[in-house]
Amino acid sequence: MYIKLPDGKFRLTNDGTLELFFIGTGFAFARTLFQTNFFIVKGDTHILVDFGSTGPNALAAVGIEPTDISVFLPTHSHCDHIGGVEFLSLLNRYVGVSVLKKPKLRMIINEEYQDILWNMSLRGGMEFNEVSAYGNRLTFDDYYDVARPTLKTTSPRETWEIDFNGIKIEIFRVNHIPGNSTSAGTAFITYGLFIDNRIMISGDTKFDMSLIELYADRAEYIFHDASLSPNPVHASLSELRGLPADIKKKMFLMHYSDDWRNFPVDDFAGYARQGERYIFD
Ligand SMILES: [Zn+2]
Repeated sequence: MYIKLPDGKFRLTNDGTLELFFIGTGFAFARTLFQTNFFIVKGDTHILVDFGSTGPNALAAVGIEPTDISVFLPTHSHCDHIGGVEFLSLLNRYVGVSVLKKPKLRMIINEEYQDILWNMSLRGGMEFNEVSAYGNRLTFDDYYDVARPTLKTTSPRETWEIDFNGIKIEIFRVNHIPGNSTSAGTAFITYGLFIDNRIMISGDTKFDMSLIELYADRAEYIFHDASLSPNPVHASLSELRGLPADIKKKMFLMHYSDDWRNFPVDDFAGYARQGERYIFD
């Protein structure tokens, strides 16, 4: 089901098979691993999901130029998921668009999260780079062409959907932060993904049995947030170990700390590993 990179280089196109490629699998404070950011690739289409503060170096490690990236999907506003977005966006505007004549970066995002991402995180570094004679500052739309998912349902949890050039993605709310939030609906916006009706990505989430049950039957594989020690806003390995064996067998763990080798996970599909191609044929 997955192969190591034959030559250490990753490509943004393939033969049309659904593929996941993690440029990092570490948690926010990982120092030897890069943060959990990944590509979805299918044919000529790629989507970069999250781009944290280690993203620029993680891209370089697999030979991808930031200006090669066309499509971005952010799951939430923590630094290990969007800390590199300003880098990515400025490079795409001032090199990709201006010099290389590429189209603007596309961003898959709904209106609610766009407003949060721009006004609470990105504006400070991106709004003032150019100001017109009329005093107009740059806006979200100057940097990105937006691809809007549509609302699929609000029950049992808010879920959005998009078919992006043949990659179908359900984008569902999860219960990540703050530590005392008790449901996805009351938590601050954080999303997980269900890709092509086959692959579930939990996103950053507390252990949430209702979420796992929602996708366990339909998912061929689950990539799940896994903190190796107890954590108030992330599912812990010990919580995940309590899952039924058939679910654990198809569950890869991601978003883990640098000491992962001290925690064998033979009861799971394994650790998702950065630099390996996961190909679902
Ligand atoms: Zn987070």
